[in-house]
Amino acid sequence: MDIKNIAILGSTGSIGTQTLEVIKANPDKLIAEVLTSNTNADLLIKQAKEFNPNAVVIADETQYNKVKEALQDTDVKVYAGEEALSQVVQMNTVHTVVTAIVGYAGLKPTISAIKAKKKIALANKETLVVAGELINQLCEENSVPLIPIDSEHSAIFQCLVGEPNKVDKIILTASGGPFRGKTKDELQNITKAQALKHPNWSMGAKITIDSATMMNKGLEVIEAKWLFGVENNQIDIVVHPQSIVHSMVQFTDSSVKAQLGLPDMKLPIQYALSFPDRWDNNFPRLNFADYPNLTFEKPNFDTFQCLNIAYKALNDGGNMPAIINAANEIAVDAFLHDKIKFLAIPELIEKATANISFIENPTYNDYVNTDTETRKFTKSLI
Ligand code: NDP
Repeated sequence: MDIKNIAILGSTGSIGTQTLEVIKANPDKLIAEVLTSNTNADLLIKQAKEFNPNAVVIADETQYNKVKEALQDTDVKVYAGEEALSQVVQMNTVHTVVTAIVGYAGLKPTISAIKAKKKIALANKETLVVAGELINQLCEENSVPLIPIDSEHSAIFQCLVGEPNKVDKIILTASGGPFRGKTKDELQNITKAQALKHPNWSMGAKITIDSATMMNKGLEVIEAKWLFGVENNQIDIVVHPQSIVHSMVQFTDSSVKAQLGLPDMKLPIQYALSFPDRWDNNFPRLNFADYPNLTFEKPNFDTFQCLNIAYKALNDGGNMPAIINAANEIAVDAFLHDKIKFLAIPELIEKATANISFIENPTYNDYVNTDTETRKFTKSLI
């Protein structure tokens, strides 16, 4: 088997660092070819010294000199700036691009990687939420496979491997986040610290808040539509607090397939890089006797308004998912900076959906403009 050279967009984040752990554990199969960060120069430098990649990019140009000087005794090429992210994924030596940047910032370099015919291991769900139709079209034109890293979508993907039959339903599991079982009233005075405490997963700050509002599950419903080509009414959510069943597929004969495992992102990351193979590893094994109660319940659409917002955006289509994504990014950032209350997150997103112009068949430029306008509008309300 050929060694795969991996570019990690966002190597300093939660998914990025876990991808490097997978690479480190498989030195005969994977090489870290490109590493990138936004502002975290120290960790990028440390990673570059350890993994000796071909190139690194620091998106924040003001830190170029710091990174360049720190790596002057190495062969690592150092670039800076947003544009460099899109260029570096096109390098001849790159085989697969792991998109582990958080948010809309992942869209442009992902498009660039697809156009350069690189395989995509997709963690950055916002890319598909904003521009799923365009991404699918580009993948088809360039014969590029898009393998999901998100644990639910990896589970569905694994259930569908080798399965020629029609899907009846996709059932996404949700942990329910830290506020499962609460009423909307009880969420009035939620603090940042409470919202950042996810019961089962350790993740970056933005997705952790998205899990607390359940916008994460809403974004995942939209992500699933584009990954698996199903109709909107074929995607269901079931709350499963133990996060052991990672998602299910129901077929037209009523049979349901599920993928199970301990909650550890390294498995879906490894699978996205090993596919179609499975590689041996020493990850802890699931012992069913440790989980005598696997439970399932309906999501609470009254408490978690973001679920309604996301389903509505899915049904409206056009640039509506891009609007809710941009407004959500601004609102979550404001919440993380103590500028708004927890329940203001869905309120701000709803205001954006009512105020930004709807475009039924958006082009790439429409997505860009929608994102810019929505950010500006949402910020003006804070
Ligand atoms: P983190 O916040 O932990 O990491 C984000 C990474 O992206 C960092 O390397 C960061 O650099 C970089 N980055 C952030 N903003 C920019 C920007 N504007 N330009 C360039 N680089 C940028 O996020 P996660 O790893 O948690 O999540 C990454 C993606 O994966 C998200 O889309 C998330 O929804 C998805 N995902 C994550 C899961 C998880 O378990 N964490 C599970 C499933 C999906 P720096 O360190 O310098 O800030």
